[in-house]
Amino acid sequence: MNRIQLRPESKGLGMTSQRARDRMVERLREQGIRDERVLNVMRALPRHVFIDEGLASRAYEDTALPIGNAQTISQPWVVARMTEAMIETGMPARVLEIGTGSGYQTAVLAALGLQVFTVERIEELLRSARPRFRSLKLHEQIRSKHDDGNLGWPENGPFDAILLTCAAPALVTPLLAQLGEPGVLVSPVGTDAGKQKLLRVIKADGAISEQDLGPVSFVPLLPGVL
Ligand code: SAH
Repeated sequence: MNRIQLRPESKGLGMTSQRARDRMVERLREQGIRDERVLNVMRALPRHVFIDEGLASRAYEDTALPIGNAQTISQPWVVARMTEAMIETGMPARVLEIGTGSGYQTAVLAALGLQVFTVERIEELLRSARPRFRSLKLHEQIRSKHDDGNLGWPENGPFDAILLTCAAPALVTPLLAQLGEPGVLVSPVGTDAGKQKLLRVIKADGAISEQDLGPVSFVPLLPGVL
């Protein structure tokens, strides 16, 4: 039997280090993420802060992880891809996010310098996310509310960009209405978890165009609040 005491690094603390984040970013690059602005923010932002301590040692694996209330923090590749897709056609200033969850995607957007409005239907998740924004000194750029994101946040619209981190059965009409012009909306769409696609909608020059960015797997956009 091995009785050697594990040092903190081998127990997992080292798994939350800068080196672990550097490795995550190298993997993202290998997986096709090209935008240096996104890679730099994800290299700097501590993802383990958004995850329960018991799972923090897995924070930089490319996987979704449970955050309670039957929800998950999105896998790093998905966060990178969605963010990249959102800023590819120009850096937005004001963004609406539906589905705060752990707050990691919100923090990525704020760390890029954007003003973020984020809506979450589960109050408990929002209560855990807010102190994280504060501890990372990103809170001045983030406004959050507990509500049904299907309604958007009309008082603060129109937005330069809208991002959904949960899958809608179809593009959400009130959200399209709150998208400014020019504007970009990125949303997973589909009911069957195995058959969702990531859509990018661009509103420009009086027209709306839609692009399929490939298959994804997200928790569903649900009605009402908890
Ligand atoms: N970006 C988050 C993803 C969390 S999972 C992260 O990386 O942690 C998606 C989130 O969408 C869940 O927290 C879920 O509660 C939320 N959600 C689902 N339907 C919603 C709705 N109608 N309004 C607001 N949030 C919703």
